[in-house]
Amino acid sequence: MKLKTLLMAFTFFGASLTLVSGVEAKESVQWPVRNPLLKKKDFVPSFKARIVSGVYGPRLKWGATPRYDHHEGWDFYAFYDAAYPRGHHPVHAVLSGKVFQVINPPNPDRIETGRKIVVQHKVSWSKFGAPKSWGPVFSGYNHMNSIAVTQGQAISAGDVLGKAGKTGYTRTVHLHFNCYRHDGKRLVNVNPARLFSKMKKGWMQKLSSKNAGARVISYDKSSGRAIVRVQMANNCLSFDGVTVSLGSGKDRHISFEGVSAVLRDKRDTGNKDLFPKLRLYPLRFNGGEAANRLNDPKRLPSGWPARSLPVAEKQALLGWDIVVDDVPEACKALTVTLRGVLGEKIKKKCPLKR
Ligand SMILES: [Zn+2]
Repeated sequence: MKLKTLLMAFTFFGASLTLVSGVEAKESVQWPVRNPLLKKKDFVPSFKARIVSGVYGPRLKWGATPRYDHHEGWDFYAFYDAAYPRGHHPVHAVLSGKVFQVINPPNPDRIETGRKIVVQHKVSWSKFGAPKSWGPVFSGYNHMNSIAVTQGQAISAGDVLGKAGKTGYTRTVHLHFNCYRHDGKRLVNVNPARLFSKMKKGWMQKLSSKNAGARVISYDKSSGRAIVRVQMANNCLSFDGVTVSLGSGKDRHISFEGVSAVLRDKRDTGNKDLFPKLRLYPLRFNGGEAANRLNDPKRLPSGWPARSLPVAEKQALLGWDIVVDDVPEACKALTVTLRGVLGEKIKKKCPLKR
């Protein structure tokens, strides 16, 4: 994909305006987002023009058969420039600590993560608003071209861990960055938004009614099926999921970090549901090759619920369509609560129009 396309500024317009109240028509958002936070040396990776090209949560994935998977980190796209014509920029440790794990097999393209480093940090997740039981912060650096550290090595924030690459299951040079907690048995993925939100205040937008919204885009009373479209500005990176309430005792909950906590080895789920009773369909191919799904609607997975529905947003923002299959006849509105990993909570009443 051409850089120009990647850097294209997407604009709120048309139906999105009513959806995301408070956002003016002239305001434009960028995807992938520029990341001023990473101007500092002690961050990942080191090059100047860094962008987040893939976010945490369910996404569509390119391939012979388009499918869903659960993206459990952030992708930082690697620019090709004069200093780094192949994009192999140095990757720095986010915080001090010691190297917990190094994966550096003879043929790194045979494993999903490619060459990988995990660092255990001294600081605990409780410093980032998480429960004490989460223990220390871990960070992970995937698809590395080369590795410059060894297991057990003590490192300081900003130390070079190696160089960005495209080893493993990827076609683009980028850094797939993970954050983890350890549950006593294994590393569990958490949204890097937790870490980044504290690194530099004001950079990362918290989830709010100004940058995110939800509405019912389809409702069929006879079958009881409703489709809720959730959308947000692309630099709103703390989104963790939704609760849909159909009335008393009928709440359905989706949490992306919740899925990470129960997923084991296989996060590539094909078309299988990750969320019982609420089926969620990402609106974007939000990986390293971020693209609007309307660029190639033929590549949507079969059974896409909104395939036949008009999508008003010509340039779809970050978002998800959520299918609720058993709306009671008496139900007049769904109450949709959007939730962020930083404790954000936005309640929205979505009338069911028939
Ligand atoms: Zn990734």
